Amino acid sequence: MEKNTITVFKGDGIGPEITDAVLKILDAAGAGLEYEIFRVGAAEYEENGALIPEAGFASFEKNRVLLKSPITTPLGTGFRSLNVMLRKKYDLYANMRPARSNSAVKTPFENVDIVMFRENTEDLYAGVETQVDQDTAHSIKIITRKCSERIIRAAFGYAQKNGRKKVTCVHKANIMKISDGLFRDIFYEVSKEYPQVQAEDKIVDNVAMQLVMQPQKFDVIVTENLYGDILSDLTSGLIGGLGLLPSSNMGEDFAMFEAVHGSAPDIAGKGIANPTAFLWSACMMLEHLGKQETAVKIRRAVDEVLRQGTALTPDLGGTAGTKEYTEEIIRQL
Ligand code: NAD
Repeated sequence: MEKNTITVFKGDGIGPEITDAVLKILDAAGAGLEYEIFRVGAAEYEENGALIPEAGFASFEKNRVLLKSPITTPLGTGFRSLNVMLRKKYDLYANMRPARSNSAVKTPFENVDIVMFRENTEDLYAGVETQVDQDTAHSIKIITRKCSERIIRAAFGYAQKNGRKKVTCVHKANIMKISDGLFRDIFYEVSKEYPQVQAEDKIVDNVAMQLVMQPQKFDVIVTENLYGDILSDLTSGLIGGLGLLPSSNMGEDFAMFEAVHGSAPDIAGKGIANPTAFLWSACMMLEHLGKQETAVKIRRAVDEVLRQGTALTPDLGGTAGTKEYTEEIIRQL
């Protein structure tokens, strides 16, 4: 099997715990990977004065594939989100977040299979904010044709390639008529290139309600940065929580794979974090590297451990720790 070298960022909170678990499983599955591992985030900053070491950037620029665990972002003050910075710096414009029910994880919702495409580089996350005076702050929402077209094309392209029936554009063009209106107009323009796929649009507040009433009505969703951020946490709730939602961040030249969840400071260091979302993100990375068979093997092992239900982490109703869950997956492999 071809050896690939990937860059790994161990972040904050539960980041190091889930990274160790995932790398162990990848090795046990014979993924054929070499790792260049870097500590990033708060601990790195305190010791070396940089949130991401220069060698970490250089490694990613060389390998072009990054497996990144969550990084803490201070609220209100302090440094800007490293996640947002990485997505912008490497133009990782297409954030794909697949939320699929797993029959072994019981939730009030069944047969959920929603693939969300979130625009990753603009909107209110462009970080164009000004403090006009002490009592007034402005934040500018940026929507461009270029960025809208490419994320919408990514969603339709995925739908077409994977035999999906419908793409729903989620927006708030009834209020933000110019910016969201532009996104919606471009959606219908691009949809003409994909006549086999049904195109529809819905307003974001309505979608929030419909997702918890009839999630099975949704297939592929394409949306702007902020709505995608919020709605994809919601879709994780439909399938059993943030511990189960992976993601890829793709650009033309670089690819970054991470769990949707954050650094979970409330459970950090307790050894009970669920590494599944990060592991499934690693499976998306394996597919990107052409290692489909290994990805299938790992997914099967996870499914079996979830089905047996004897070594689940507390977020899934179990009493096992990250270590026991990881060992059980390796045993299945
Ligand atoms: P969070 O996603 O870290 O946690 C939300 C809740 O989900 C917590 O109760 C947590 O314990 C639980 N949870 C999350 N991941 C879990 C897992 N793998 N296993 C079990 N339970 C899990 O969200 P938050 O608390 O709002 O954010 C914490 C920090 O993470 C913030 O600084 C935020 O900016 C950052 N963050 C980073 C990323 C990223 O690196 N991509 C994404 C989201 C948030």
